[in-house]
Amino acid sequence: MLTQNLGYPRIGSQRELKKICENYWAGKTGYKNVLQVGKNIRHENWLMQKESGIDVIPSNDFSLYDHVLDHSLTFGAIPKRYNEVILKKGNSELDLYFAMARGYQKDGLDVVAMEMTKWFDTNYHYIVPEFYKNQPFKLFSTKIIDEFYEAKQLGILTKPVLIGPVSYLLLGKEKEVGFEKIDLIKNLLPVYIDILTRLDALDVGYVQFDEPFLTLDLSEKEQKAYQYVYKEIRKAFPRLKIVLATYFEGLGNNLSLISSLSIDILHVDLVRSPQQLENVISVLNDKTILSLGLVDGRNIWKNDFKLSLETINKATEKLGRERVWISPSCSLIHSPVDLTNETNEENLSSEIKQWLAFAKQKVAEVVTLKELASNEDPASTLQKLKANKLAIANRKNSTLIHNNEVKQRVQSLKSEDSKRLSSFSSRKTKQKGLNLPQFATTTIGSFPQTAEVRSWRAKLKNGTYSMEEYNTLIAEETAKAVKWQEEIDLDVLVHGEFERNDMVEYFGEQLSGFAFSKNGWVQSYGSRCVKPPIIFGDVSRPKAMTVKWTAYAQSLTTKHMKGMLTGPVTILQWSFVRNDQPRSVTCTQIALAIRDEVCDLEKAGIKIIQIDEPAIREGLPLRKAEWQSYLNWAVKAFRISASGVQDETQIHTHMCYSEFNDIIQNIADMDADVITIETSRSQMELLDIFADFKYPNDIGPGVYDIHSPRVPKREEMIALLEKAKAVIPSGQLWVNPDCGLKTRGWDETKKALIEMVEAAKEMRKAE
Ligand code: GLN
Ligand code: ZN
Repeated sequence: MLTQNLGYPRIGSQRELKKICENYWAGKTGYKNVLQVGKNIRHENWLMQKESGIDVIPSNDFSLYDHVLDHSLTFGAIPKRYNEVILKKGNSELDLYFAMARGYQKDGLDVVAMEMTKWFDTNYHYIVPEFYKNQPFKLFSTKIIDEFYEAKQLGILTKPVLIGPVSYLLLGKEKEVGFEKIDLIKNLLPVYIDILTRLDALDVGYVQFDEPFLTLDLSEKEQKAYQYVYKEIRKAFPRLKIVLATYFEGLGNNLSLISSLSIDILHVDLVRSPQQLENVISVLNDKTILSLGLVDGRNIWKNDFKLSLETINKATEKLGRERVWISPSCSLIHSPVDLTNETNEENLSSEIKQWLAFAKQKVAEVVTLKELASNEDPASTLQKLKANKLAIANRKNSTLIHNNEVKQRVQSLKSEDSKRLSSFSSRKTKQKGLNLPQFATTTIGSFPQTAEVRSWRAKLKNGTYSMEEYNTLIAEETAKAVKWQEEIDLDVLVHGEFERNDMVEYFGEQLSGFAFSKNGWVQSYGSRCVKPPIIFGDVSRPKAMTVKWTAYAQSLTTKHMKGMLTGPVTILQWSFVRNDQPRSVTCTQIALAIRDEVCDLEKAGIKIIQIDEPAIREGLPLRKAEWQSYLNWAVKAFRISASGVQDETQIHTHMCYSEFNDIIQNIADMDADVITIETSRSQMELLDIFADFKYPNDIGPGVYDIHSPRVPKREEMIALLEKAKAVIPSGQLWVNPDCGLKTRGWDETKKALIEMVEAAKEMRKAE
C-alpha cells in the first residue's frame, strides 16, 4: 500500500508567488527572481511531502500562472499573434508565457491575452488552449522534464503530472471551423511520446495523466481517442507506470472504457462519488492498482478516519493491500495551504480549527490513513483514531453548529414562501407606481473601490481609524456618489457598495454560521487568490446587514435607491460549505436570512431591491443528468429570498459571465421583475435566447463592457440598444452596464455613464 499526492498548492504559504509575479509585471523585479521564488516553492513542497511520508510525490504540479497554459507552451500550442512577442529582442520565454496569460502591451506591440475559463466546477480558472485545423504540435518548453530533474537532484524521484492528451484537447477551443479539436489527437500524441522518452531516459517511474473528462459524458470519438492514446503510450513504453487520475465526479458509464485501457494505477474520487467504489473494483483488471481519493481536496474539513478506514478495508479485502493506494480526492490546489498559519483566535477559534485540515494537513492525513490501515503500531493507531473521533464528534455536537430555530424554519417552509403574491403581469401594473421611464437607466451596484477607499478599510482594521471615523468617510463617499448619479440623471440609483470588501465576505461576516481564515488563500487565476468564507453551522442573521447604508443613501435623494444584496446561491457557491448536510439545505438557510434582509429593506422604504446571483450557472453539476435537481433547489432558494415582499416592490437580479441557452426556463422561473445581464461583449447575442423563449419579465442587457477602462461612445450603446429592441419589446428593456464598476476608475466611469444616460434618452425619443 502506497500513498500518493496528485498536486500541491503552488502559491506559497504566504502567497510568495503572487507577490513576485506582480512585482515582475510592474517592472520592479527581474525574471531571475521570479524563477528563484518558483524554485523555492517547489523545493519546499517536495521536501515537506517527503518528510510527511508521502510515497509518490508529484512534480510539474507547480505553475507560475496556470498549469493548462504550461501545457500549451510545452506542446508549442502558441497562437500566431504572439510571434512578435517571441521575436522581440530581450524577451524571454517567461515574457511569452505571461503575454499569453495576460496580453502584451509594450513598445508599440498590442496583443490580447488568451481566453480564461473555469476549471470544471471549481473556482479555479485556466487559460483556454486555442486550436486550429491540422495544427502541428512540438516540444517547445521542457518544463516538465526540467522539474523532474530538479527534484531528482534533491534526491526525490517524483511522479511528473501531465494533463492527459484527451483532456488537454477537450479543454481547448476550436478557433476556426471545419474540424473537431479531438481530431488533433494524432498530431498531439508524438509530443507526449517525446516527453515520456526524455523522462524515461532520466529513469522516471510513475507518470500521472490527469483525465478528468473521464468523469463526464463522452462522445464515441472521444472514447476512441482514449483507447488510441493509451494503447500507443503503452506500446512505446511497456514498463512505464501509468497513473490515470480521474476526479470531480464518478466514472459512471465510462467504467468499461477505462477497464479497457492499459494503465497501472487508476485514481478515483471517492469524496464526490463514494458509491462508485464497488463498481470500479468489479471492472478492474487483475493487476491494476486502485488509488482511493479519500481526503477531500476541494473542502477544508478534517477527514473522518473511521469512515475512510472502512472504505480502505473494503478495497483491500477485494484487491489485497498491494493493489490499494491512498490519496487526496484531487489536486490540493483547491485547498488553502496551511492551517498552522491561522493563529488568530478572533478569526478562527480553536474550537473550529480542530475541525479543519488545509493542504499540508491533508497530506499528513493521507499518510496517517496508511499507518492506521497497516496497524503496525496498534497503540498509536488507537490513539490517533481516538483523537480523530473526538474532533469529529465535537464538531457534530457543537453548540456552534446547531440552531434549532433555523432548522425548524427550513422544515416548515410552505410552497407559498417561494412565490410572489401575484403574477409578473399584475406586479408590473402595480409597479407602474414607481414612475420609471421606458429604457430606465441603472447600474449594477458598485462604484469604484479606489485605493483610497480600500485604505480606509485597512486603517480601520489596523486601528488607525475608529469605526466612527471610518463610517464618516464611507458616508461622505456614498453621498458624493448619490449626488453625482442625480446630476447625470440616472433613474434608479445605487449607494455604491463602498462599505463592502467583497460581495460574499461582507454578508458572511455579518451572518452566524460563517468563519473566516486569515491566510486561507486559494488560487483563483494567475496571481489572483480568494479567501472563501467557511460555512460551519446553521446560518442565521442576527441583525439587519445593509439597511443602515441603504436607508442613508435613500435619505439623500427623492429618486429610487436600489437595495443591493448577494443571493443565497452565490454566497453558497463562493464559500467552503459544510459537508454534514446537503448543499441545498445550507442554501435554503442562507435564502431565509436574505429574505429577512429584503423584508427589512422594504420596511425601511426601499422599493427596488437587487439580489445578485452571478454564480447560479457555475453551480451546475458536471453531469447533465443532475442539472435539474440542482436548478430546482437553487431557483427555489432565490425565490425564497425574493418572495417576502409586496407586489409593488420591484425585485432585480443580476448575472454576469453567463450563457443562458440551456437554462432559460430556470432563469424565467426565478421570476425576478428585472434581470440585468452581461451582453455587450457578445454584441447582444446572449439576448437571443430570451427572445426565442419569449422571456416575459424585464431585462437590462449590459450596454458596455466594464472589464476595460475604455469609454464607449453613445452611438455604440445606441446601436446595441437598437439590436436589443429588435428582439425584445422595448417596454421590457432597461439600460445598464454589464456589471458592477468597482474595478474601474472614476474618470472613465463618469464619462461612460453620462453617455449611457444620453443613449437611453435618445432611445426614448425614438419611441
Ligand atoms: N452588485 C455587485 C457589484 O456591482 C455585483 C457583482 C457581480 O455581479 N459579480 O459589484
Ligand atoms: Zn456582474
